[in-house]
Amino acid sequence: MYNLAIISGDGIGQEVMSACEYLLDKLDLEFSFEYGEAGFECFNNNGTTLPEETIRIANKSDAVLFGASTSTPGEPSPIINLRKALNVYANIRPIKSYKGVNCIHDDIDFVIVRENTEGLYSQNEYGDCDKMIAERVITRHASERISKAAFNLCIKRGQSKVTCVHKSNVLKKTDGVFTESFYKVAKDYPQIQTEDYYVDAMAMYLITQPQNFDVIVSTNLFGDILSDESAGLVGGLGLAPSGNIGDHNGLFEPVHGSAPDIAGKNIANPCSMILSAAMMLDYLGEWEISNNIRNSVEKVIADCKIRTPDLGGDASTMEVTKAIVKELI
Ligand code: ATP
Ligand code: MG
Repeated sequence: MYNLAIISGDGIGQEVMSACEYLLDKLDLEFSFEYGEAGFECFNNNGTTLPEETIRIANKSDAVLFGASTSTPGEPSPIINLRKALNVYANIRPIKSYKGVNCIHDDIDFVIVRENTEGLYSQNEYGDCDKMIAERVITRHASERISKAAFNLCIKRGQSKVTCVHKSNVLKKTDGVFTESFYKVAKDYPQIQTEDYYVDAMAMYLITQPQNFDVIVSTNLFGDILSDESAGLVGGLGLAPSGNIGDHNGLFEPVHGSAPDIAGKNIANPCSMILSAAMMLDYLGEWEISNNIRNSVEKVIADCKIRTPDLGGDASTMEVTKAIVKELI
């Protein structure tokens, strides 16, 4: 029996989470769900975007599933604060091309490992209306920790190279520490190849030669931007899952946000949420079941018949979900 914290949040977060729960219910596993609020609607109800109660539920769970939250003007981001509260420092975003989806390349299989606790997401901005300053914190501790996570993941995936992405020619001190830490950790993994690129060059290489990458490790903002770019390479945000992993907990969420433009229409692609749940099952050690889910998603996508409008179809969120459940062995 796994105790899961379910935090649906706002917009399509709620729709894809319902779909995901429907699928989890069909698995040969026992879950107990505990629900927590977070986001814009939560702020309207409780005066905070992330109640203490939600953090408590998340902290005592075996794993957390998070939908998406709409940002609340003037209020801190609940997901950033929840990642910090759980100390889930490694944001893992696999990028894979799927058969049946029109991509520039059909042989992409890499993962972005994004540092999750510092960088430009310190949410510490100050100044007056003429001059604003954003704090960008990079520590040796967090940089070494995320590099280790990247090398370990490379071994787990049976891949051969880790690429460090930074901008140390301009951000000499902060990204200097990030890159130094990367190469220090690399010494413990002599069997893994290493390389590093400036983030601007990397933005181009991801388009021109994405097949060359196995594991990419970067700071918080660069990792965020490059993972949306990469999602675009393989069929969009509707197919991009993610996991936030720490030493004591894991939080799994689609890469996309609350998508206010399509919320409430029941047309959100549930695959990113469902693939995030599969990552959660990997984390919980249920590899057979997680592979079964991934294979089912792949089959439904490759089949091209039942898909949501982002992939050119006209099926609803639940129609796609039911098609995936039907494929489960
Ligand atoms: P937020 O501020 O919550 O991130 P956003 O406006 O940035 O909201 P995203 O959720 O990041 O919206 O989505 C960006 C675009 O991708 C939107 O046009 C949205 O409709 C589309 N999109 C995102 N997720 C999905 C999905 N699961 N299915 C279909 N389209 C999606
Ligand atoms: Mg967004």
